[in-house]
Amino acid sequence: MNNEAERGKLHIDFHSIKTTTLVYFMLFAVFMVLIIWVLQDLFINKYYENMRVQEATRTATALEGQFQDNPRHFAEYANDTAHNVGILIRVDTANSTDVYDGINGINSQEAFSNDLEKAKKTLTSGKESSIGYKISAGDNEASYLLYATNVMNVFGYAKLYIVTPLFPSEATISVIKNMLEYISFIILGFGLILAIYLSIRLTKPIENITKSAHELSKGNYNVKFSGGNFTETTELAKVLNTASYEMEQSDFYQREIIANVSHDLKTPLTMIKSYAEMIQDISGDNPEKRNEHLNVIISETDRLNMLVMDMMESSKLQSNAIKLDKEYFDIVEVAREAYESFRILNTQEGYKINFRPCKPAFVYGDKARLSQVIHNFISNAVKYSGEDKYISIELKRSAKKVSIHVIDHGIGIPKDAIPHVWDRYFRSSANHERKIEGTGLGLSICKGVLSLHNADYGVKSEEGKGSDFWFELPVVKPPKQDKVVEVNNGKED
Ligand code: ADP
Repeated sequence: MNNEAERGKLHIDFHSIKTTTLVYFMLFAVFMVLIIWVLQDLFINKYYENMRVQEATRTATALEGQFQDNPRHFAEYANDTAHNVGILIRVDTANSTDVYDGINGINSQEAFSNDLEKAKKTLTSGKESSIGYKISAGDNEASYLLYATNVMNVFGYAKLYIVTPLFPSEATISVIKNMLEYISFIILGFGLILAIYLSIRLTKPIENITKSAHELSKGNYNVKFSGGNFTETTELAKVLNTASYEMEQSDFYQREIIANVSHDLKTPLTMIKSYAEMIQDISGDNPEKRNEHLNVIISETDRLNMLVMDMMESSKLQSNAIKLDKEYFDIVEVAREAYESFRILNTQEGYKINFRPCKPAFVYGDKARLSQVIHNFISNAVKYSGEDKYISIELKRSAKKVSIHVIDHGIGIPKDAIPHVWDRYFRSSANHERKIEGTGLGLSICKGVLSLHNADYGVKSEEGKGSDFWFELPVVKPPKQDKVVEVNNGKED
């Protein structure tokens, strides 16, 4: 166990963001250093040569000026310049040759004598008044720039020669190398620090999110996901916070549903058991009583059946397992059929159910399920209607929409309960007092069906005054063959 822990500690995960960032950053830093070294090796000589040529041009101009304007101090000036700049200066006058040698590591007199003689001849020949070209000298045939020109001052004419080495001296090269070494260390060190800092900053929010996710997986819904300062991780944290909220809600509903379902199933089961026992013990021989008790058992079984069917339908809707069987049909006719099936209550139980149709309105949807919604609205209106037992089924049609309203003058719905009537298992507390039967699933099924149709729906209700449950669908033009059927039936617009 201990060994395993040890091994775990030493193990480097090459797939982790931390290691990957670190490795890539270091590779980048090493690459940069390599580039610097390769470039300096390839280009330093070329660069140095260019620089020296420019410098030689400037020095020559200055020497010419000095020779002409300040001849008395020229020797001193030339000597200083030769040593400061590291060049050889020679001045040939009619009766003297002065050499100021600032080049180290080579016997200048010997190495350049031939080239200087050649230059002298060219100037003497009068073909050119000044010349400049590259020469090579010394054991290693190093490059030099030779510049020669005729100059003049109050004492007469003279020839000025300048020889400039075109390669960096050992000292210069070692300074540059030294500097590059420092730069390399700085780049590598800075790269390492930056890589460590970045990898920590990048992984911190992910580690935090992972920690919170572990908490969530243990069922702690209070955990909050925080995404740090990065847009992506903030977005991830936001999504996870929403997911955690949803999980909490669904967990809550699941408990609620189990509680409700067991309660709803228990009541009819208890009734069935009690009445069956009654038949067994008491009414078995009394056909009248037995029938009465059997009727209770049958109606409780029906209730159980209805409850189970509603539950199945509701859970199918919840899990999106329902596919709509869509067709073109006249919703006015479907509403009329629903009205017809409830109309019997007018004569049998004194209800005043009215039907106010509009002109035919074709919609495209699942006829059976939309009919179920209308039935549900009407059966609720019957259950919750008021003293006057008034119910009105009204259809309103505009150019583009048709709406179906089921209005009652019943108990209405308290304001704070209105948003919840569409929730699964919601039953207003007033119903329990009035002992109205219901599963609390009807409207949630209606909501599911209407949402699948993208229909607008709602309820306008005032406690004690009544309710208006409605939904609205777009009116469509039926395709041609449907139209023919409708025309044949004489129901066309
Ligand atoms: P139930 O089986 O309880 O009727 P529903 O989902 O159909 O379940 O309705 C949910 C709740 O909405 C009902 O319990 C009731 O409180 C309220 N409700 C529905 N229709 C009406 C209505 N027409 N008048 C007053 N309250 C209603």
